[in-house]
This record gives sequence, C-alpha cells and structure tokens, in this order.
Amino acid sequence: MAFEAPPYLPPQVLPHAPMHQFSVAFGELQVGGLPLTQLAARVGQTPFYAYDRTLLRERVAALRHALPRSIQLHYALKANPMPALVGLMATLVDGIDVASGGELKTALDAGASPQAVSFAGPGKRDAELRQAVAAGVLVNIESEREVQILERHCDALALSARVAVRVNPDFELKGSGMKMGGGSKPFGVDVERVPQLLQHIQRAGLDFEGFHLYAGSQNLHAQAICEAQQQSYALALRLAEHAHAPVRTLNLGGGFGIPYFPGEERLDLAPIGANLAQLAERAVHELPGAALVLELGRYLVGEAGIYVTRVLDRKVSRGQVFLVCDGGLHQHLAASGHFGQVLRKNYPVAIGNRMDAGATEVASLVGPLCTPLDLLADHMALAVAEPGDLAVVFQSGAYGASASPQQFLGHPPCVEVLV
Ligand SMILES: *Cc1c(COP(=O)(O)O)cnc(C)c1O
Repeated sequence: MAFEAPPYLPPQVLPHAPMHQFSVAFGELQVGGLPLTQLAARVGQTPFYAYDRTLLRERVAALRHALPRSIQLHYALKANPMPALVGLMATLVDGIDVASGGELKTALDAGASPQAVSFAGPGKRDAELRQAVAAGVLVNIESEREVQILERHCDALALSARVAVRVNPDFELKGSGMKMGGGSKPFGVDVERVPQLLQHIQRAGLDFEGFHLYAGSQNLHAQAICEAQQQSYALALRLAEHAHAPVRTLNLGGGFGIPYFPGEERLDLAPIGANLAQLAERAVHELPGAALVLELGRYLVGEAGIYVTRVLDRKVSRGQVFLVCDGGLHQHLAASGHFGQVLRKNYPVAIGNRMDAGATEVASLVGPLCTPLDLLADHMALAVAEPGDLAVVFQSGAYGASASPQQFLGHPPCVEVLV
C-alpha cells in the first residue's frame, strides 16, 4: 500500500502587508544600516533578535506628527523590555508604563523619570507597591486592597502615593486581538464601584491624579479605536464628578495594532488623530489641566524588530519542504501561533539573504524542538533556501524573546541587539 500525500492546496490567498520598513540592497535585507549577513557576523551567533534604532525613532516621530501635540505618548514596557531599547524609548516618549516590580526597575535603570512612570497590573504584590511609593511613580489602582496597602506604606515611609484609578469600563474595544476591558475582567475596578473607591482613596490620603482605561490590544480598525477613546473620555468625565481632586492625567489606553497576518493592513492614523484633536480640545474646558495619555506597546516597537534564525537543514518529506532552523517556538512563541492566537496564521517571513530571488517554492520553516508545535512558517512561498541561509521573521519587535519559553528543551537563549 503506497502512501500518497494529499494534494496540496495553498491556504493563503491574501498577501501580507509589505514589510517596506526594511530596505533591500544587493539581495540582502538591511538592518540598522548593515546587510543581514554582516549583522549576523557582528552578533556572532544565531538566532537573534535585532531592533532598528532608526525605525524606532521614525515610528515615534510619525505618530507625533499624526496626533495632536498635547497628547502624551507612553511606552508599555511589556512589549519589549530589552534594556538598551527601553533606554532609547525613554528618550523618545513622554512616559513608560510598567506592570511589575521588575519592569519598574528596568524603566528606572533606563533613565525614565519616576514622574513619567506608571504602574498597572492586577495582583501587585505588597513589596511592589512599597517600591512604587518609594520610587514616586504613579500607581494605577486595580482594587480596594491596593488602596489599603498603599496607605500603610505611605505611613511607614512618610511619603505620599501618586495614584490613578484603573477603570474596567462598561464597553469593549470592538475587533481587538485581546480584550482587556468590559464585562467581567480581572483588570481594573468596575466602573460602578469607582465612586466608592474614590472616597476610600480620599480617606486614605492618597494623592489622586486621574484615571486609566485600557479596553484592548492589537486593533487595526481606526473607527473602533476612536469609538473606544470617545467612550473612555465620556466615562472619565462622569467619574471626575466623584473625585475630590482634579483629574491631572487621563490615560485613554492604546490598542493600536500592527499587521501580522495575511490580509491585514496598517492602521490608518488620520481618523485617530482627528478624533483625539476633538477630545483634546474638549478636555481644555471640561478637564482643565488634565494630560491625555496614550499607552502603546507593539505599535511603537513591533515593526522595528526582526527575528533571525539560520537554516540548519533542508528536508523534503513526501513532497513537503521543511527548512529546519536553529530558532523556533522557544524563542518566538508568538510566531509559532501559541501566544493568544485562536487560529494559527503565518507571520511575514523571508529568506533575508536571498531577497531578490523572489518566491520560488512553498516551504515550511520549523525549529529544532521535538514537537509539531515548533513551526515558524507553514506552507509559505519563500526563496529556495539552503543550510546556512538566514530566515527572518518580521514584526518581531514586540512580544518576542521575553514572551517565549526559552528554557523549553534546553536550547541556548537568544541574543538581542539594538542596531
Ligand atoms: C499589554 C498592555 C499594553 C500594551 O499593549 P500593546 O498591544 O503592546 O500595545 C498597554 N497597556 C496595558 C495596560 C497593557 O496591559
């Protein structure tokens, strides 16, 4: 009985958004001004992540150009906590948002001013809240318990605590990759309970500065983002009536997505800029003295980074080409499809030292792990690659190394470079 492979039908008809942020010269992807093979030699090993400084700067500049001047931009550090990158981001944005004591240390080490650091996250530990008070950063309060703990630390340290209330709104960010507000959530305090919490904050003597709303992540629909921003603003306006002190900061969240998968297109910033201009205009009268803040992670850093892995072996199994690489799921969980995706789809991938070859065969890029989950590209049109070639996963500047199970299967950790 002969084995017959099923006829192959390409699952993807739609193309990926073009990865034009990186240029190509002499057939090689250029990263941080270097041809990819030279960069790989400079790094000294594969796999590695590379983040391009120029692209990071350009991204922040483009965003500032599209948004009203008064909007403050914060970087959500969990997207990429590489110290050198955070150091650069700290010079480009108006603030850093952290979500743990460890991230707080990274932000302060990177030179962020405590005045411009805010700390959100459910389940902040007693010791982390103490660190936050001592550091003088803004704590986004997510429960009654945090108020009590902060009050105790303020007394013990003879310091005041800067706080904002993270609100779990009564609406959602439609069409988000990840919903983090609306309905029942572990994040923030349900909007209907906020007035009572504000009284508690006043009694505890904490220094109230405003509100934080975060509806969701990875959204490519400008209209949905505008709607959520309007609803967040209206909600904050209502809640401000219950506050004993003026709102000085209103964090409207973020959620700006980047195109990862076939058929996705880049977010249109123009309507978002226009919408925020209206809100900023209203805030001058309705919330005088309040800064409007956006907190963005992947939108700022995701497109500036690539993951580079070397092809170790080329195998053909019953007609299917497998490029076996030294990198995989353990270093890039998201590209394998196991970081919150429902259906596995391919990230944009290319053979970075054969950019002029065009797409000449259908191949699957797999890692060295002994599990079928270790898949970086499934049946993708790629340049014909040989052992030694460098495969590149684009859109890898966020939720890469730090969001991957690097210990899994005992392979060495990857290197990260800022170029
Ligand atoms: C994760 C997170 C972010 C960043 O999300 P991105 O999708 O990377 O922009 C921002 N704010 C909060 C509260 C978060 O939890």
